[in-house]
Amino acid sequence: MTLEIELGPEADIFRAEVRNWLETNRPAELIGVDPDHATTAQNAALADWAETVHRAGLMCISWSVEHGGRGLSSIEMSVLDEEFARADVPRPTRGVGEWLVAPAIMAWGTDEQKKYFLPRILDGTDVYCQGFSEPEAGSDLASLRTAGRIDGDEIVVSGQKVWTSGATRANMLFCLCRTDPDAPRHRGISYVLIPMRHPDGSANGIELRPIRQMTGDSDFTETFLDEARAPVDNIIGGVNNGWNVTMTTLGSERAGSTTTQHLPFARQLRMAIELAQSNGTNTDPVVRQQLAWAHTHVEIMRYQGLASLSDAIAGRTAGARASIIKMFWSEYSRVFLDRMANVRGAEAMILPMQSAGRYEPDYWTASMLQSRSSTIWGGTAEVQRNIVAERVLGLPRGN
Ligand SMILES: Cc1cc2nc3c(=O)[nH]c(=O)nc-3n(C[C@H](O)[C@H](O)[C@H](O)COP(=O)(O)OP(=O)(O)OC[C@H]3O[C@@H](n4cnc5c(N)ncnc54)[C@H](O)[C@@H]3O)c2cc1C
Repeated sequence: MTLEIELGPEADIFRAEVRNWLETNRPAELIGVDPDHATTAQNAALADWAETVHRAGLMCISWSVEHGGRGLSSIEMSVLDEEFARADVPRPTRGVGEWLVAPAIMAWGTDEQKKYFLPRILDGTDVYCQGFSEPEAGSDLASLRTAGRIDGDEIVVSGQKVWTSGATRANMLFCLCRTDPDAPRHRGISYVLIPMRHPDGSANGIELRPIRQMTGDSDFTETFLDEARAPVDNIIGGVNNGWNVTMTTLGSERAGSTTTQHLPFARQLRMAIELAQSNGTNTDPVVRQQLAWAHTHVEIMRYQGLASLSDAIAGRTAGARASIIKMFWSEYSRVFLDRMANVRGAEAMILPMQSAGRYEPDYWTASMLQSRSSTIWGGTAEVQRNIVAERVLGLPRGN
């Protein structure tokens, strides 16, 4: 018996609408494509697909109608994710602009800021990257040292950020800087939206140095700011109030898609089972046990998603449940992808030649290498454990 929740007639109507639309519109060349492992040609198709989804009114649809969305509930958002997963095509989003910056603007921005910045995220004009972490400020973000100085109607920002994901594809940096060095460390921080380049295309005091990862890709950069300028109007929540705004962004980052987190893992597990069936490792008792282990874990994730959905229906925020879910899937993913070597056999030890003279990891190896980072970004597994210990179990705070 599987556990399900009755989502009600409105969800059924919405499901039929999305399913019909996907049946007619899903691009054949993107069926089964994982955007994290897309080729150049697939990336171009993904960009077209994002525009199609946008034109169909299916982008940023949890936003209120006033901000250009459809004001859909968590239930309908879950339905949307499920239907894209069922059609086996990626669901395009506006990335961190949509799920980290927009909630902060909606909660803390002025009417003018909402009117200016939100439509630019929705239509893809502004693509953001996140400038929070610094060499000495990661988990302990409030120790950040990048400095912001008000100069007339501008803020001038200097310092160093690190691990800035997607910086080379972004035109905007949402950045934390210290605007009052004498204030207690959680105060005196400002949250600024900084253009990466001037209107003429020249750099706005921002230099990006890509970091090469063990997959061979360079998904993030060291980011050096030397007198980068932004209008004071780009400070969200007011000067020195950035920590409160940051809490909104970090809450959204932690919450992620708690209701449908299991979907990509369920898909990956189906791929693993098909591989085991095709290469004969499905008769190996160790592989069988490991696949059964993975199945139970994906089911637990699904139940966690249903619990999260019940919370949302009851009007409760994800809270510490988000930490439990993040901890669970990120640790599962590392173990599962390590164990895939047993399903793949000797093939798992080879770096295939992908293009002329270049040996690059294939899907499974790249996923295994990438999974090492999942217990770090968005709050490390240890930090999530602290949250669970303190807020769920009521244990005393650590030092
Ligand atoms: C794939 C990836 C993408 C990222 N993208 C971005 C991005 O776009 N923008 C951005 O700003 N940052 C980004 N980051 C940075 C990320 O937010 C930080 O790596 C993370 O906050 C941890 O900080 P740190 O690396 O400085 O490690 P530290 O905070 O120095 O932690 C080192 C170790 O100490 C442990 N630790 C720290 N504090 C505690 C504590 N209180 N209790 C118990 N253990 C503790 C940690 O769990 C970890 O194991 C990204 C990171 C990764 C891996």
